[in-house]
Amino acid sequence: MHPALADDLARFPELLRSARDMAAREVSGAAAERPVVALGPAPARAPLPERGEGGAGALARFTERWAPGMSASAGPRYLGFVTGGVTPASLAGDWLTSAYDQNLSGAAGSWGAALERETVSWLGELFGLGEAHSGAFVTGATVSNTVGLAIGRAWLGERLGVDVSRAGAAALGPVDVLSGSPHSSVGKALSVLGIGRDRLRPVPLLPDGREAVDVTALGAALAALDGRPAIVVANAGTVNTVDFDDLRAIAALRERYDFWLHVDAAFGAFAALSPAHAHLVAGLDVADSVCVDLHKWLNVPYDAAVQFTRRRDLQVAVFHNESPYLGPPADEPDFLHLTPENSRRLRALPAWFSLTAYGLEGHREVVERNVAEARRLGAGVEALPGLRLLAPVRLNVVCFTLAERPTPERLAALAGAVAASGEAFVTPTVYAGVPALRAAFSNWRTTEDDTRRVLAALATVSAAL
Ligand SMILES: *Cc1c(COP(=O)(O)O)cnc(C)c1O
Repeated sequence: MHPALADDLARFPELLRSARDMAAREVSGAAAERPVVALGPAPARAPLPERGEGGAGALARFTERWAPGMSASAGPRYLGFVTGGVTPASLAGDWLTSAYDQNLSGAAGSWGAALERETVSWLGELFGLGEAHSGAFVTGATVSNTVGLAIGRAWLGERLGVDVSRAGAAALGPVDVLSGSPHSSVGKALSVLGIGRDRLRPVPLLPDGREAVDVTALGAALAALDGRPAIVVANAGTVNTVDFDDLRAIAALRERYDFWLHVDAAFGAFAALSPAHAHLVAGLDVADSVCVDLHKWLNVPYDAAVQFTRRRDLQVAVFHNESPYLGPPADEPDFLHLTPENSRRLRALPAWFSLTAYGLEGHREVVERNVAEARRLGAGVEALPGLRLLAPVRLNVVCFTLAERPTPERLAALAGAVAASGEAFVTPTVYAGVPALRAAFSNWRTTEDDTRRVLAALATVSAAL
């Protein structure tokens, strides 16, 4: 054994303790007070180490060269994109995922796959899905959308008498994918799946700046297909204003039209945890496939999401890994026959830890507190003379712009000034043609005090612009 490896083996517990001490500093006190995003240039690339320095040396080198440039994206005032943090229990689970280093491609020799199934079933229950939906962990909502749409593509093949898995997507002819306000990842998924980004056909939205689809217009678009089966992507939680398509009304269209219903509920699914907001995702259980991100509102570490479908048979047709050494899919197919990955980590363990540690009630409290803080920030923004709310705060995102001359340049300057203050991080968007910023609340640690600090930073930098 190389001496550096032998040394580390002998001192394994000490190395882990040092890393733990560093992590503990990161998640508490001083580190939580460092700037929310790192704006300086990254260090120059170092040469490949010829002789290793050992684990302790690597930790020292990381601490010196790279740690200062990590963002506080797991902290309470990083409000860019939709970014979750890491609950204490999920971090512990994540460490153990790596320590056990299970390969969840198959069930043989480990209970890991059964643990993933238990976790998926808990998540289904959390989001109001019944026994008809099965699912698996994937790395993010983009992959979850891709898996759901791949199963939808196989369903189109079934309707048209084509085995897409063998004949390829081209055998389907042009595919129609209809959606109101799809996330950008849907276009990417269609590109990957050989359906094509241009086959994503926008459907008119409800009036008055809503981002929810006009279900009557969707019906008309489906009628115009003359009986050709299609894919509908419904959106449960848009990124700008967290608007929700009427899932029940969309599902009711299936009495007249033939379509696969995929729901992108990446973070909107968490509305189901709050009795006051659960109506927003009513009907989620009628979807053929559902995408939910977990590294957002479940607050588990990157990268984790879950996909659900009612048609596991078609999922196996798409993802079946055909090889004599892997064997045929069983009644309960191994995960390597269900998702794009073959080898897979025990990605479910952090979610299992968090759900076991905090339960439905704990995670509900996070959702409700985030919604309350988004409302508070929305009210505060409205009261600032230099800013203006662009949409009502429907759930956990505040979408706002400058009261005067909201040009892309001035909004970029505002976002830059917020980041430079070190107090918060928000990200730009364009909503209804107006350049804007969004502040998204999805971190388990965010409190009223954080919202006040964000608001104070916004007041200062908007007044100076
Ligand atoms: C974040 C998000 C995605 C993409 O999620 P990743 O985890 O970044 O792949 C897809 N859809 C919606 C609605 C999202 O908010």
